[in-house]
Amino acid sequence: MKKNLKIGVVGLGLIGGSIFKDLSKLNFNVVGVSKNIDTIEKAKKYSNASASLQSLKNCDIVFVCTPMNKTLSILDELENIVDKNTIVTDVCSVKRFLLCKNRPYKFIPSHPMAGTELSGFDNSLEGLFKDTNWILTPFEKPSKKDIEKLENIIKMLGATPVFTTAEFHDKAAALISHMPMLVSQAIFKAACENELALKIASSGFRDVTRLALSNEEMAQDMINFNSDNIQNALLKLYSCIGDLLGQNYLEQTCEIKKQRQKMFIKK
Ligand code: NAP
Repeated sequence: MKKNLKIGVVGLGLIGGSIFKDLSKLNFNVVGVSKNIDTIEKAKKYSNASASLQSLKNCDIVFVCTPMNKTLSILDELENIVDKNTIVTDVCSVKRFLLCKNRPYKFIPSHPMAGTELSGFDNSLEGLFKDTNWILTPFEKPSKKDIEKLENIIKMLGATPVFTTAEFHDKAAALISHMPMLVSQAIFKAACENELALKIASSGFRDVTRLALSNEEMAQDMINFNSDNIQNALLKLYSCIGDLLGQNYLEQTCEIKKQRQKMFIKK
């Protein structure tokens, strides 16, 4: 039996497609919106799908999963479509730029900390969010009930909701995601000038340059929307390299290895 909530997903790419597939499997009344006719046909095998944002009328919750540079215009369009009680969230990897105005619906920005270097509906995956963190950055004082409603859906997708502000989120995301992606691209670019280096490159080089495979549009958006934090993260990186090469390299390396070993342990 279908669950009562009607949930919309705009943009059926890697993230939106994964949310759409999971929510369909969970038996929600899900409506996907895509501009791409092929994607709509594929999505219809899971649930309802259409090319029109109008199909999101009467939704209880809407996930906007378009590229960051398209998200504000979709949020604007939704103002004339969804109800004042609809909870709207996005999944953008940067959060501050979304706080430009109040919305006539219940807007609760969010960012799932999951993904791959691939994009599009064909690469979206059921279970992508299992055992991951999902950041929420509420700013218009949404009610506890509305937050709980969104939190419950996030938990059903297998993720753990983590609350913070857009400012703290963007600083942290620059350190663990946006700056590392830029450095990964720069490491690859540096090695490209040496033919032998590329020929003998193995697993270490493969691992540190994985982020250079990131979706280009998302990479460009991260640089555009979070440039101040990325610059500060790069300054921090230079100063850490200076510290490491300054004194007690071995001790510092042991400490870093110890801390790193404690992370990413599957429970
Ligand atoms: P993606 O695979 O390229 O998906 C984006 C989708 O948006 C495209 O498939 C496209 O689908 C759709 N789209 C573009 N313009 C649209 C419009 N005007 N109306 C409706 N749909 C539109 O990219 P993604 O990786 O899922 O990224 C989407 C969002 O997730 C971004 O905001 C990104 O910051 C965030 N995010 C990404 C990751 C990651 O690792 N990739 C992780 C966390 C968060 P159609 O062509 O089918 O319309």
